[in-house]
Amino acid sequence: MRARLVLGVLVGAGLFAGAAHATARPITAHDKALLARPATYEEKIAEAVAGRLTRHTVSVRCGDIGEPSYVLGVTPFVGSHALDYFLMRPDECTYLAWFDRSPARWDPRTCVGSDCQYVPDIAMALAVVAHESYHILGYVNEARVECYGMQSIWYVANKLGAPVAESEALGSFYATKMYPQREESTPRYWSAQCRDGGKYDLRPGSHAWPS
Ligand SMILES: [Zn+2]
Repeated sequence: MRARLVLGVLVGAGLFAGAAHATARPITAHDKALLARPATYEEKIAEAVAGRLTRHTVSVRCGDIGEPSYVLGVTPFVGSHALDYFLMRPDECTYLAWFDRSPARWDPRTCVGSDCQYVPDIAMALAVVAHESYHILGYVNEARVECYGMQSIWYVANKLGAPVAESEALGSFYATKMYPQREESTPRYWSAQCRDGGKYDLRPGSHAWPS
């Protein structure tokens, strides 16, 4: 059985310097070992949200994903099918747990002091879950997946306990501060069509963006 991996979210520029490279490899023994162990508390948080977003039973594991450090998540595919699981770096699980514990602390509008430094990391972790969820749904075009994921950051944040206004603020933070950096830093993950009314707008009837 031939397997390939679709790269997950790639980190952006600035805080997240690094170039995007597509890779393909079979599922490794390490992936299998990671998936064979029970989910941790943090992984269950991600599984619950990804499951609600995709309506699939999704397994998530955090660990060594066997990719360069700028790759934060991967969704293994066999042929053209995703396998209802994805892998993330351990930091992403940590940030999700932080957010789950205290969503209000990471509100980009009201964060205090050094907490604000982590808001991009938190927003990215929410985005990774959303991004990989669209791979689970079978999408492989990274620009499309990244754009769909960005439009679901609010959903991930809301399911983890943030009020709608904060959830939308996190989506907006990602869209205005982080996504634009992708045009240069990770162009495969960026599209001019990722905008209100663009080809990748999931809710063309609404002018709210990206939520
Ligand atoms: Zn991806």
